[in-house]
Amino acid sequence: MRTEKSIEAFNRALKSIPGGVNSPARAFKSVGSNPLFIEKADGSAIYDIDGNEFIDYVGSWGPMILGHAHPEVVKAVRETAGSGTSYGAPTILETQMAELIGEMIPSVESVRMVNSGTEATMSALRLARGFTGRDMVIKFEGCYHGHGDSFLIKAGSGALTHGEPDSPGITKGTAKDTLTAGFNDTGSVENLFTMHGDKIAAVIIEPVTGNMGVIEPDREFIQTIRTLCTWYGAILIFDEVMTGFRLAKGGAQELLGITPDLTTLGKIIGGGLPVGAYGGRKDIMDSLSPSGPVYQAGTLSGNPLAMAAGIATLQTINSNGEFYNELEKKSALLEKGLCENLHKSGIPAVVNRVGSMFTIFFTSEKKVSAYKDVMTCDTEMFARFINLLLDEGVYMAPSQFEACFVSSAHSESDIRYTIDKCQKILDRLKE
Ligand SMILES: *Cc1c(COP(=O)(O)O)cnc(C)c1O
Repeated sequence: MRTEKSIEAFNRALKSIPGGVNSPARAFKSVGSNPLFIEKADGSAIYDIDGNEFIDYVGSWGPMILGHAHPEVVKAVRETAGSGTSYGAPTILETQMAELIGEMIPSVESVRMVNSGTEATMSALRLARGFTGRDMVIKFEGCYHGHGDSFLIKAGSGALTHGEPDSPGITKGTAKDTLTAGFNDTGSVENLFTMHGDKIAAVIIEPVTGNMGVIEPDREFIQTIRTLCTWYGAILIFDEVMTGFRLAKGGAQELLGITPDLTTLGKIIGGGLPVGAYGGRKDIMDSLSPSGPVYQAGTLSGNPLAMAAGIATLQTINSNGEFYNELEKKSALLEKGLCENLHKSGIPAVVNRVGSMFTIFFTSEKKVSAYKDVMTCDTEMFARFINLLLDEGVYMAPSQFEACFVSSAHSESDIRYTIDKCQKILDRLKE
């Protein structure tokens, strides 16, 4: 694969952008290569500036559930932009969006739009603290909730990939209010509540993780968290920035049958434009300014372009009663093919998949259900796998600790092509 133009573009970017990228997950550092600079994308395909074409399983790290440049989304953005791009005054689009979210996720009785997932989780935590009058928050090792100070402690995603799960620049004062428990380790959560129960404002969790790779919660684990929060009066925040509208119409909470107090959203609700949202119980949300005392604001919040793209995305999903079934079928086909390939090759690995999110963990563990299992992965094998995949025209997340995504634009032949190429690569890796 020729990548001269991307290399040149990256060297140029390095001079004026820290690390050459505006988000660390894009750097390809952990797989020992350079980022590909993108020219354009369409459906399931993405094209770099050297003219290489790939089947894309990154999907902008989650938002592109309809694939790239979906005609309805592009049309909505074009039409809206023609009437101005921001007013700093309310629009009907914002109410339409709030109503749509509420219909799809019934626990979200009231919702505030913001501009990123990070802003959503930061604001939800402030609200939980303001509402309960308590300071502490429990998060889980390997879970990522954006780059807010309170969450960059034992964090996942790029923080984990680059070996900095605890970032410098976070004050001791902030860090001391963040307690960490183990994902799928019920006892660790019970212990924290026993010790600090009356000081815990909130528990925040990726109900199905994506940011240390895909891991499903055990039933008893997630149920116990719900029970403990109710018992101790702590707010349960499901961070569904990735899983919202991804795993089901109603997100992971629908799939798991657990109702959180607050939900944070992002990615898919923006249809590829910058957006986030947090919402939930009306009595809690009413504590927000201007109806209550907890302050949070945003010049571009509820931006018309983002609302138009998001509404077009959600309506396209809603207009097809089989949307999630079709996605499930394709994703299952891919999982089956990958598992068969891995089995044939004898290379030890575990494929975790929930709906259209999946991760191939190169580990000799029998299953991956916790952070400690994730940490056993052979990241060198992963790096070789990813680079060979790119050579064959398949673009998967360039980090072992991330999720890959199937979109409605992926065709069955995309999936079969991917399985065939994986087979070829695994045969080479075995040698
Ligand atoms: C992506 C993500 C975030 C952060 O969202 P940004 O828009 O990148 O700030 C937060 N939580 C989860 C679960 C995410 O996947």
